[in-house]
Amino acid sequence: MKLCMIGTGYVGLVSGVCFSDLGNDVICVDKNKHKINSLQEGKVPIYEPGLTELVIKNIKNKRLSFSSNLKTSVKNSDIIFICVGTPTKKGGGSADLSQIYNVAKEVSLSINKFKVIVTKSTVPVTTGDEIEKILSKRNDKKTFSVVSNPEFLREGEAIRDFTYPDRIVVGSNEKKSNKILKNLYSPLVSKGAEYLDTTRRAAELIKYASNAFLATKITFINEIANLCEKTGINVEDISIGMGLDKRIGSRFLRAGPAYGGSCFPKDTKAIISTAEKFNINLSVIKSVIRSNENRSNILLKRIYEILSHKVKNKKITFLGVTFKANTDDMRDSSSLLMIPILSKKGAIIKYYDPTGYKEEFKNFKNVYYEETVKKSIDGSDLIIIHTEWNDFKSINFKNLIRGKKPIIYDMRNIYSDLKINSQGFKYFSVGK
Ligand code: NAD
Repeated sequence: MKLCMIGTGYVGLVSGVCFSDLGNDVICVDKNKHKINSLQEGKVPIYEPGLTELVIKNIKNKRLSFSSNLKTSVKNSDIIFICVGTPTKKGGGSADLSQIYNVAKEVSLSINKFKVIVTKSTVPVTTGDEIEKILSKRNDKKTFSVVSNPEFLREGEAIRDFTYPDRIVVGSNEKKSNKILKNLYSPLVSKGAEYLDTTRRAAELIKYASNAFLATKITFINEIANLCEKTGINVEDISIGMGLDKRIGSRFLRAGPAYGGSCFPKDTKAIISTAEKFNINLSVIKSVIRSNENRSNILLKRIYEILSHKVKNKKITFLGVTFKANTDDMRDSSSLLMIPILSKKGAIIKYYDPTGYKEEFKNFKNVYYEETVKKSIDGSDLIIIHTEWNDFKSINFKNLIRGKKPIIYDMRNIYSDLKINSQGFKYFSVGK
């Protein structure tokens, strides 16, 4: 099959590369020419484990190519995946669908034979209907079919998630396009993935409902962690005890910083906004957002307490600043909220992240990137383990730190308090 991925970001690039690895001819399109030029040379602009190797392999096999010419790429393809961004609209909570509709308009100019137009981007329910209207203005309805096929991959685990998904959701209102997609996904279905064939609107809503539910789980355990801290209970015991119930499940029940990233914050807001258009009040999700927005304030308050409210001139190290491990994505990371506030209060911040320096902190006073864990913790008063990178899971603090012993605040509950305390460090964690 000839596939065209429009938008070569996390989703478009990863799924395009994986589809090519399954034997399809894939052309990945992006309007960012710089990105396309780098990819043509096998240089991957995002950090995603295993992705560079797969890009180079499939370029060599001549199954994967990159282009900034949308029209020609669409004309030469059978299935068109729309993978552009759907960020939060400025000044509101709804999804900004301008990138989606711009692409739909461009695609509508290039339909020269039957094509399946698939939305992989996360889009509010009824967006497929709108795309269909845009395409119908210039094309006979028999020449295209609009399908929703939301993507569930997680950054950092994207290749594995694409290759071994729990489920593939395809929402289509026609048998023909569904058959084409079922055929495309058959190598994954034969490896055990569930294929859910549903309506287009249902597929659109499944994605938002799933993300809102996962965000709720995280926020729920974060609030339980607050209670644990006041009652002398270890939140990890609660997570295990709850998770053993098969109706609940153990995943996404680990207390820590606020959820962030490119999906949960924007998708929880967007589903509320969509529901409001239909006069539905999603009150549970609204309180999840409020609670999550307050999470960083709660952790900052704990930092002030740990430092006996003397933040000025304190040397604070952040180990990890991305919203989670194995990605360079900084979108809505809680470090973006915490570091500027601490810097404004006069703290001197050093940070180390395996994905390197972050532009996001360049305008803040006294915020410095260090190239190693050792350099970043040197002379520190407080070390904050912010992101759960493997690099931070077995640091020998005793050997690395000579002289004054910093306090350690482990926001990911990686270390054992007994072990760290026995090495002479003051250790704080979450929900204990
Ligand atoms: P991204 O911002 O990383 O990439 C989007 C790309 O689209 C950019 O490279 C941009 O230049 C390109 N683009 C925009 N308009 C274009 C146009 N007219 N023509 C060609 N290219 C164009 O976004 P992403 O993180 O890959 O997310 C894409 C969608 O997938 C969003 O709706 C998101 O919610 C959803 N999603 C993301 C993830 C994730 O983990 N990042 C997971 C599942 C679903």
